[in-house]
Amino acid sequence: MVQIPSRRTVLSGLAGTGAAVIGFDPFTRSWAAADATGAHGPLAHVPPLDGTLATDAPSLDAAADDYGHHVHHRPLAVLRPGSVADVVAMIRFCNTHGLPIAPRGQGHGTFGQAQVDGGLVIETPTLAGIGPVTRDRTVTVGAGVKWSALAKATLAHGLTPPVFTDYLELSVGGTLAVGGLGGQTHQHGAQVDNVTALQVVTGAGEPLTCSPTRHADLFEATLAGLGQCSVIVGATLTLVPAPDTVRHYLLPYDDLETYLDDQRRLAEDRRFAYLEGQVTADASGAFSTAVLEAAAYGPPAGPAPDDTALLDGLRHTASGAQISDVTYGDFLDRLAPTVAALKESGVWAYAHPWLNLLIPGDSVAATAGAVLADLTEADLGAGLVLLYPLTGARLTTPLLRTPDDPMPYLLALLRAVPATDTAAVDRLLTANRKAYDTVAAAGGTQYPVGSLPFTRADWRHHYGAAWPQLAAAKATYDPKALLVPGRGIFQTT
Ligand SMILES: Cc1cc2nc3c(=O)[nH]c(=O)nc-3n(C[C@H](O)[C@H](O)[C@H](O)COP(=O)(O)OP(=O)(O)OC[C@H]3O[C@@H](n4cnc5c(N)ncnc54)[C@H](O)[C@@H]3O)c2cc1C
Repeated sequence: MVQIPSRRTVLSGLAGTGAAVIGFDPFTRSWAAADATGAHGPLAHVPPLDGTLATDAPSLDAAADDYGHHVHHRPLAVLRPGSVADVVAMIRFCNTHGLPIAPRGQGHGTFGQAQVDGGLVIETPTLAGIGPVTRDRTVTVGAGVKWSALAKATLAHGLTPPVFTDYLELSVGGTLAVGGLGGQTHQHGAQVDNVTALQVVTGAGEPLTCSPTRHADLFEATLAGLGQCSVIVGATLTLVPAPDTVRHYLLPYDDLETYLDDQRRLAEDRRFAYLEGQVTADASGAFSTAVLEAAAYGPPAGPAPDDTALLDGLRHTASGAQISDVTYGDFLDRLAPTVAALKESGVWAYAHPWLNLLIPGDSVAATAGAVLADLTEADLGAGLVLLYPLTGARLTTPLLRTPDDPMPYLLALLRAVPATDTAAVDRLLTANRKAYDTVAAAGGTQYPVGSLPFTRADWRHHYGAAWPQLAAAKATYDPKALLVPGRGIFQTT
C-alpha cells in the first residue's frame, strides 16, 4: 500500500494477484492504472482521492460476501472514501466508464444486495461523523455510522432515535436504504419515517441535500429506495427523550391466535413502547407457540412501569412470564450476548437465506398460519421466527411497501444453515418463493432485506402505485442505471 497525503489516490493493489497497479501521470494529473499484465484496465485514470481505493484480493473477497454467505459477486475495486468528494469523484468516474456501483454499509443483507460484479463497491464505514445534537432534537450523521455508536452519542444528551432494529451493528445508510423496522415501529413508524433530511450523491455524481421540501422527489426515492437513485452520505435524524431504565417482558403463549389477538390489542392501545415476539416450535415441531416480547419505558420517557396495568387483560401463561428491569442502553443492545455466542459457535458464519414478509393484519392468522404450517425445524435451522404488528398509519415512506391494512404484521423466517450445504440453501430459496407467493396472494409484500428470488416484473408489482415515481427518479438521478444492479429492479443482470 502506497501512502500519499491529501487528495491522492491510495490504491492498495497487489501485483501478481490480478490487481491494478497505479501510477500518477503528471501530464493528465490523474492516476493511471495498468493491470498485472501492464495493459490498461477499467480503472485507468482514477481521480485523486482523499481516501483509499482497494483492489487487493482480501478487500474484493470481503466485498463479494455478506451476511447471507450464499451469493458472491466480485467487484473491481472498493472505495473507502476519505470525504464526500471521493464519493462524487468515483461515481463520476464510474459514469464515464460505465462501471456499476454498490454502496455497502455493514454488508448485512443476505442476498448480494450490496455486491456488484465487476464494478465499484463504496464502503461507507469511513463516513462515520456524528454531528452535534441540535436544540430541536435532531442529529446529522455520516451514512457509515452504526446505530450502536449513534445510540451512545445521543444517550449522553438524554435523547435517542425513536426506532431501532433489533441488531445495532448496522449502518444508518444501510437501514435507511431498506426501511428499518423494530419493536418501536408500532409507535413511531420505521427508521425512514424519522428522517428530516438526507445528504446524498446521485447516481450521476451530483451531491445534493434533500428533504420533504427540497428535492422532495429525490428524498422520497432514497428513503427505503434500495440505493437505486443515490448513495446516502449523511442523514439528519429526529430524536426523542430516552428512558433511564426499561421494564422488559417475555410472555409465553400456547397458541398463535391468542398471541396474535393480544399483540393486536397492545399495538392498538400502545401501552408498551416496544412490541415484538417470536413464534416457537412446540414439542411436535409445529410452529404453534409463541413468546410475546414487550418493553415499557420508565422515567423520564414514560411513567414508572406498573405490571398490573401493563399486563391487564393479556392471556399469556402467567407462570412462564419473565419480567426484568434493565438500563435502556442494555435493552437496546440486548442481542450482543447472543451474537457473541453465535460467533463463538460458528452459527454467525452460516448461510442465512432469510425471508421477511409483511402480511395484512386482517388475515394474519390464516396467512402466517399457512406459511408456518409449511415450516419445519430443519428448514429454520439454527434460526428463529419473528411475528409482530406494525401500525400502518405510522408508515408514511412511499417506497417502504407495506400491505394496505391498518395493522400489517412482519413475519420473518430468519433461517441459518451451514454455508457448505448449498443444496439446503437452494431448497430454502424455493421455499421462500413459495411462502412469498402465499403472502402476496393475500395482499402482502416482502420487506426486501432477505433472500427472495424476484424478477423485474415482481419488483414492478412490489412497487405498485409507487412504480412510476421510482422509475422517474431513476431516470433523473441515475440515468445510466449504474446504482445497485444486484437488486435486479431496473437492470437485467
Ligand atoms: C443480525 C441482523 C439483524 C437484523 N435486524 C433487523 C431489524 O430488526 N429490523 C430491520 O428492519 N432490519 C433488520 N436487519 C436487516 C438490515 O436492516 C438490513 O439488511 C440492512 O440493509 C443492513 O444494513 P447494512 O449497513 O449492513 O447494509 P448493507 O447490507 O451494506 O446494504 C444493504 C442495502 O442498502 C444499500 N446501501 C447501503 N448503504 C447505503 C447508502 N449509504 N446509500 C444507499 N444505499 C445503501 C446497499 O447497496 C444494499 O442494497 C437485520 C440484519 C441482520 C443481519
